[in-house]
Amino acid sequence: MRKIKKILIANRGEIALRVMRSAREMGIKTVAVFSEADRSALHVRFADEAVCIGPPPSSESYLRIDKIIHAAKNTGADAIHPGYGFLSENEDFAQQVEDAGLIFIGPSARSIELMGRKLAAKAAVAKFNVPLVPGTSEPITDVLSAKKVATQIGYPVLIKASAGGGGKGMRIVEHEGEFNEQMERAVSEATSAFGDGSVFIEKYVTQPRHIEFQIFGDTHGNVVHLFERECSIQRRHQKVIEEAPSSVLTPKLRNAMGEAACNVARAANYYGAGTVEFILDEKMNFYFLEMNTRLQVEHPVTEMITGIDLVKLQIRVAEGEKIPFTQDQLTMRGHAIEIRVYAEDPANNFLPDIGTLKTYKRPDGNGIRIDDGFEQGMSVPFYYDPMIAKMICHAETREQAIAKTIRAIDEYEITGIETTLGFCRYVLEHDAFRTGDFDTKFVEKYFRPEVLKRKPEAEEEMLAAALSSLLIAPGTNTHQKPAADAPGKWKKNRTL
Ligand code: ADP
Repeated sequence: MRKIKKILIANRGEIALRVMRSAREMGIKTVAVFSEADRSALHVRFADEAVCIGPPPSSESYLRIDKIIHAAKNTGADAIHPGYGFLSENEDFAQQVEDAGLIFIGPSARSIELMGRKLAAKAAVAKFNVPLVPGTSEPITDVLSAKKVATQIGYPVLIKASAGGGGKGMRIVEHEGEFNEQMERAVSEATSAFGDGSVFIEKYVTQPRHIEFQIFGDTHGNVVHLFERECSIQRRHQKVIEEAPSSVLTPKLRNAMGEAACNVARAANYYGAGTVEFILDEKMNFYFLEMNTRLQVEHPVTEMITGIDLVKLQIRVAEGEKIPFTQDQLTMRGHAIEIRVYAEDPANNFLPDIGTLKTYKRPDGNGIRIDDGFEQGMSVPFYYDPMIAKMICHAETREQAIAKTIRAIDEYEITGIETTLGFCRYVLEHDAFRTGDFDTKFVEKYFRPEVLKRKPEAEEEMLAAALSSLLIAPGTNTHQKPAADAPGKWKKNRTL
């Protein structure tokens, strides 16, 4: 047991602030690091101390292991929290932090390394009877035999980079005729992105849901899961709305997936917070996808339904404490939804829309949590991830959580840049979302930029026309619902 007195947070923005808040409640001092672009950032102002570690590009600041460890040593910090992104899944960083005599608030370098290589991870978890997507267990070297495997598992197949991440080096092959071409592309993409061109084949699940489990391990060999998060609403293979619990898991399936997630952790001798990602097919078969060896962006939905502060738990486990509860003591309460507010333009293929937050007014009220790193008048820096905020709403039921989220979106006022607020509202109002009948193809299937571009006046005119036609024809059905993909009523706060 080693009590932590001062933590350096090797990150920026909302996650740096979020970690600092929990540390402060525990009586632990905090050290911020920042690049020259972040001099007046909120995480810098909040911390007890702050150290500038270099110019704006992350390769010269937030990714500089040497500068970060130096800053920790200089300020007398005894631990480093990596947040998510940046160096959080870099095994060299975890190792060097430990070698410098500091505590890394995360898993061991060996667990990070194992789970960072997709094929090695699959081989390790297979020994623990975790279901895997059918596919090859070795890198493909010979196209002919790879094609044979593809025919055996059946098209469509997915070619994936073993060193992959962020959806890079991934190619769908619909039929044998395009195998060679797609394989060439996957290999060249993987080589340029990861310096490692090895690829493998998986069955392509055509209508998958992305369901992940929050797990926690300690250094005494205990592993628990804190239930699931449904993350199927994605654009560009990246999540944008998450919720807990998932509306499709039965208690039986939840137990089976939770147990498989704990086994993944056991296969990696895992301690700390981790996330085991699964895909679920339309027949409710689940398959291990990968494990993220860090705190996840969407961790607050789990905190809302379990009442557990995951950062405090990370810190306690890093100090050598046992997890202070058992699996049986955990229960879920209510329903939580997170929407990610990105500075990007849904009407323009979700491209980043960097600029100044001319107006920035957050919603408020019971059951609403906003994790952000901005104030009115600040600019969204061009160098980093364009997420402005995460808004998490908690209520007794899913229906109430949806209503609360929509109410809060309408209260959120952001001008000066385009955001994903209107897009999230559209999803939350959609029948497919409300009934729970959706998968990772939601955006592809239902979203068209036009649904957000409609002018409020045009909508009012439509309503007026609809009303007058009802008045003219009194015998008509007055209970007609709008089409499933009709735009939601949205009147203000949008930067149209
Ligand atoms: P990365 O590490 O690049 O993020 P993942 O393996 O986590 O790659 O997959 C990213 C996303 O791609 C998943 O959330 C899922 O939507 C999709 N995906 C991955 N594997 C499959 C598969 N075998 N079939 C269908 N979709 C998949």
